[in-house]
Amino acid sequence: MRFRALLHSFKEYAWEPSDEEIASSVGLDVSKIRRFDLNTSPYTPTHWLKKLASELESVAVNRYPDTSYHDLRKDLSKYLGVGEDCFVVANGGDEAFDIISKAFLDAGSEVVISSPSYSMFRIVSELMGAKVVYVRRREGFADDVDGLLKAVNNRTRLIFLCNPNNPTGNAVERSDLLRILNECDVGVVVDEAYQEYGGESFVKLTEKYSNLMVVRTFSKAFGLAGARLGYIVACEETTTLLNKVRPPNSVDVITLKLAEFALEDVEWVRLKVRETLAERDRLISEISKLRGVKVYPSVANFFLIELVERDRDEVYTEMLKRGFVLRRLDDPALRRCLRISVGLPEDNDALLETLREVL
Ligand code: PMP
Repeated sequence: MRFRALLHSFKEYAWEPSDEEIASSVGLDVSKIRRFDLNTSPYTPTHWLKKLASELESVAVNRYPDTSYHDLRKDLSKYLGVGEDCFVVANGGDEAFDIISKAFLDAGSEVVISSPSYSMFRIVSELMGAKVVYVRRREGFADDVDGLLKAVNNRTRLIFLCNPNNPTGNAVERSDLLRILNECDVGVVVDEAYQEYGGESFVKLTEKYSNLMVVRTFSKAFGLAGARLGYIVACEETTTLLNKVRPPNSVDVITLKLAEFALEDVEWVRLKVRETLAERDRLISEISKLRGVKVYPSVANFFLIELVERDRDEVYTEMLKRGFVLRRLDDPALRRCLRISVGLPEDNDALLETLREVL
């Protein structure tokens, strides 16, 4: 049999190892592993789960979900203030990128990525046979708008931006996005996976700019990464075409129930966001006091630290041996950096104490 030739040299997504794998690699009990590498919410919405449990018997698991996801789109429309037909529902943000790449890219197309950023932009593009052009961010990780616009040619189909950007934590500037939208007519994807934590949402701009697609998710601030739900916001002509390539039933009936409870309870999400941001600011302020560490500002639920005096990998390993999992980035500009996601207050306390000890 013959696989697609591109797969042989293809660099796949770097899967996060499980707590059990990490624990056995460093000889610790699994209960000692604390994850600061996942960028997810540390808060489980147990009250939504309890409600789900009480209604579970009435969930029609023998039938497919409503393929049009009408009720969810109605709730999303209320949450974000754009029309019900401006949504494409997906099994997480990652499937949303997959849908966009299938709708836009042919072999030989080009994609422009403001880099460094989330690795799935490259992966979905290369899998369609497209060529990826990286435009390095400016000082402080701001998008290089001149560079991005210069990289666009007649083969370019998509530009990927991330707001706030993973892994650098800075937001996309409205004036930068407007320049891009006004000065080129390729599809502009803005990944707002972390937007509930900070930065300005550009969802409303989809009403004015037909080339804008905003991707959002329930995996971060809503605390539902395990349930797998994301969506694209775009104008109706765009969602009509994107829906042609969307799998008909990739979001399950149980997840749809959780999303219904979540969107009735956005105040809880906002409260947890405020608590997370207060913890982030506390972590940043305490870590900034340590010698030899530079902390980058962030509007998200994670931030970057740069080890100015110590070997980054050594610090990573010393933390890991003590059960603290941080994220190493392999981008050359970030080879001295570790990314830290904000955890529960008691875990953050333990992180600070251990970091002080290791450094
Ligand atoms: N965008 C960014 C920047 C992310 O970090 C993630 C999470 N890995 C996603 C999108 C996709 O998340 P999900 O598929 O869980 O919605």
